[in-house]
Amino acid sequence: MKVICYAVAPLEDSYIKNWAKKNDVEVKILREDLNEKTVHLAEGFDGISSEGIEPVTEEVYDQLAKFGLKQLAVRQVGFDNQDLEAAKKYGIKITNVASYSPRAIAEMGVTHAMYLLRQVGIYYNRMNHGNFNFEERTLSREIFNCTIGLIGGGHIGGATAQIYSSLGAKVLLFDPYYDAALEPFVEYTDLDTIFKKSDIISLHTPLLPSTTNIINSESISKMEKQPILINMARGGLVDTSALIDALKSGKISGAGLDTLANEAEFFGKEHVKESDLPDDYKELVNMDNVLITPHVAFFTKLAVKNSIEIALNDMKSIINGKGSKNIVNL
Ligand code: NAD
Repeated sequence: MKVICYAVAPLEDSYIKNWAKKNDVEVKILREDLNEKTVHLAEGFDGISSEGIEPVTEEVYDQLAKFGLKQLAVRQVGFDNQDLEAAKKYGIKITNVASYSPRAIAEMGVTHAMYLLRQVGIYYNRMNHGNFNFEERTLSREIFNCTIGLIGGGHIGGATAQIYSSLGAKVLLFDPYYDAALEPFVEYTDLDTIFKKSDIISLHTPLLPSTTNIINSESISKMEKQPILINMARGGLVDTSALIDALKSGKISGAGLDTLANEAEFFGKEHVKESDLPDDYKELVNMDNVLITPHVAFFTKLAVKNSIEIALNDMKSIINGKGSKNIVNL
């Protein structure tokens, strides 16, 4: 079997080569994205994989079908750049990797929360300026005494619940869908109770009409415990200007953000000029009770390995006529 992988980052090479060796498959690795200009490189291969956000056009699926290809294994969660109907029309089954390591994102959320809970950013700043003082503002809470409010209890919310529960914290969860497997770790409740009772509020839902700006001035007004807000999910879940106001007034005591509503303008880029950075980002990043990371919660060795193994196993399975549970355009 001969397969081709597009848009491979250098750090993926060794994982792809290991998979190929283990599965006795010949693999060609390309740095280029899959598009109308590069699709001809797939001729003569039995399987294809890609990733990225560049829209894939009907012309590409047409070409792949002409080369006899029957699938496209996307090595990431998102597949909104794929034209699912067009792919189906040409008999191309698209698979994604729905969950490569929920624990990676959960651990990053807890890391942000612990950093903020113990005021590490504030002390770090002070130490850099010869200030070794501590006073009431930096008096911390301890995690086992905290109530954690999770919004969304799917793969990542569930993993997050398990970690906080194992640290001795009380975990409240709001999710419209009940999951019996989470019973040992959470107490299901409603959104208002989450806002009212939580010391840490952690967001783990997709961006949907029902979750857009779920943290806004109205929901913030219901918060009674000056919580820390953690958003490892999607920037659009939070009304950023309402968050900035709440951080300034102390209504929210800290924010750990791996994602921002306007992040596509600058996350993942190097040497972004100060003048090109959005004002709300500049304001947030200068607050010592805010921690921002550039959408890297997923970025662990295990997650990279899993995203490759799951995508390429699906590719092989479909080529061998066995199907896959990860087909997104059935
Ligand atoms: P999932 O589909 O497994 O779980 C989402 C959960 O949200 C589901 O249980 C669903 O019932 C619940 N939900 C839906 N609407 C809701 C609502 N209105 N209120 C409360 N809960 C609601 O998804 P997941 O894999 O756990 O991903 C969660 C989020 O994390 C997504 O936004 C995803 O894009 C994001 N994510 C971030 C990173 C990162 O690196 N920062 C990586 C992967 C995923």
